Amino acid sequence: MNMPEFLSAMQPELDAADRNLVDGVLARQLRPLAKTITLIESQREDHKQRAQRVLEALLPHTGGAMRVGISGVPGVGKSTFIEALGLYLIEQGLRVAVLAVDPSSSVTGGSILGDKTRMELLSQNPAAFIRPSPSACSLGGVAEKTRESMLVCEAAGFDVIIIETVGVGQSETAVAGMADIFCLLQLPNAGDDLQAIKKGIMEIADLIVINKADIDPSAAMRAKSQIKTALHMLRPASPNWTVPVLTLSALKKGGVAEFWNTVTDYRKALTASGEFDAKRRHQALAWMWELIDSGLRSRFRSHPQVKQELPALARAVEEGSTTPSIAALRLLGHL
Ligand code: GDP
Repeated sequence: MNMPEFLSAMQPELDAADRNLVDGVLARQLRPLAKTITLIESQREDHKQRAQRVLEALLPHTGGAMRVGISGVPGVGKSTFIEALGLYLIEQGLRVAVLAVDPSSSVTGGSILGDKTRMELLSQNPAAFIRPSPSACSLGGVAEKTRESMLVCEAAGFDVIIIETVGVGQSETAVAGMADIFCLLQLPNAGDDLQAIKKGIMEIADLIVINKADIDPSAAMRAKSQIKTALHMLRPASPNWTVPVLTLSALKKGGVAEFWNTVTDYRKALTASGEFDAKRRHQALAWMWELIDSGLRSRFRSHPQVKQELPALARAVEEGSTTPSIAALRLLGHL
């Protein structure tokens, strides 16, 4: 089968139930949207295949939203900020979807966006769609499902997709890998920015926001200049964008319009230089490689001969009776 034949064979006819989902999503109906995301999140093999067919049909209608990643430690004010931003955007006539990547949710049952009382006003607004983090066992699984849900939201005509994540672990890198702009929320105290630098998070931020500036405006200004100094030490990701540091009060809704203007400026600057589309292309390829890596790993682990030999070889490596490279070569040879 040549490549055009392969690609068209990958788009089989949809059955009636899946056609309904696709049509409902494209008609911007929230129920089919939620059902499609549930299908994407399902662990059942037949659901996974249906989800891919539905996604395939929706794909030509994706790409139209601004994808905004938002991260910060618990308590920094993410949900307060997302609610203020979401309501502001809706006032501007935009539709807003909020998704989350929280790898701890499979353990805790959902620590972000899971609580219905968060973003109460936004969640009741018909121009908003809020979806908690999917529960999957690995960060890769959670991120993959969120990424696909993001595409479904785009097909449903949302103008802005906000992807929230907690400021711990590798989830930031995953969200930065699917967002057009990655925003880091910080508290106005000095220790915080240094922590973010240590963890390498500041390097992937396109925009830094110091929240809770209402509590002590002069502390917020001090934090702003400290962070700006720290940013000078980092290599900029784009020659056309200097990472801005904004001060904001999510609670008092101060600085939300300025935040959105900055996001718009970012989009304009990177679109003009061609980097905006290049970033999306790069993200799509990186995603493919990630799926190949995880697919290879799971095939490897489920291979009968690997399963049979792995325990003894692992013991031999631990005991020093064989080298890690000899053991790895032998096991990989079975693939
Ligand atoms: P999250 O865990 O990052 O989602 O943080 P929340 O949005 O739940 O906020 C944690 C607490 O900080 C809540 O009590 C908020 O009311 C409060 N908070 C959030 N933003 C601000 C702000 O700009 N100023 C002040 N004073 N408090 C805020």
